[in-house]
Amino acid sequence: MSGFSTTAIILRRVEYGDYDFILTLFSRDRGKISAIAKSAQKSKRRFGGILELFSLLEIEVGSSRSGGLLILKEAVSRNLFSNIRSDIKKTAYACYWTELINLWLEEGNTHPALYEVFGYVLEQLDRAGIDEEPLSILFQMRFLSIAGLKPNFESCANCRRPTADIDASMVFLSLSAGGVICPSCSGSRSANMKLSKGTIKLLQWMDGGDITKAGRIRFSAAEQKESLLFLESFIPYHIGREPKSLKFLKNYRRGPL
Ligand SMILES: [Zn+2]
Repeated sequence: MSGFSTTAIILRRVEYGDYDFILTLFSRDRGKISAIAKSAQKSKRRFGGILELFSLLEIEVGSSRSGGLLILKEAVSRNLFSNIRSDIKKTAYACYWTELINLWLEEGNTHPALYEVFGYVLEQLDRAGIDEEPLSILFQMRFLSIAGLKPNFESCANCRRPTADIDASMVFLSLSAGGVICPSCSGSRSANMKLSKGTIKLLQWMDGGDITKAGRIRFSAAEQKESLLFLESFIPYHIGREPKSLKFLKNYRRGPL
């Protein structure tokens, strides 16, 4: 891979020796890439202190002579999301989304749709007076769709009975079956979660509706709570990992003991 320029969001930063950082980046044009930022640890001036988690940057990278890691040559800030960084709750959400993307993405494929959604939710989260929870519901629903892990809300995963025909306001779901389980099948499958039909409609809208109108969607406290509980269980189950930052987020919500 020869040198190139792209916009990218930092997914991970690891100290390398006494001088350098190794960065994992989600780039718009090349998907997930790793690059070494030489002397970035030693000298704040080298990159102006902008190499922080979830910073949106314009970068120029070159390949090393040995053909190993890419080398970060230049980085210019496009958005450092300073309002997110000054707020612990916003930071907790941004770190969760960032870690989730890093866990799921593999190097070598571009994901323009996911890149757009990630940039959009970070931009919104950075605004004052925005509710974090609906944004996280939006991000998680779109992430699941793009990752091909979308929950099946339309019909029973076991007998295909349409959800609309289930005569109950609360519907059972099974993590292992990937979606709705009707009452007749709930004994035979591990139906371990519940959502109201109203919440399911909202989740479907968050996945398929106009993203720029998503901020106006109003969730009741109960709908919001069950949406977050469902998504924050469904995603770790299906990607096979529990992001560390999700544990932090859950602890933060519980508040001080
Ligand atoms: Zn069934």
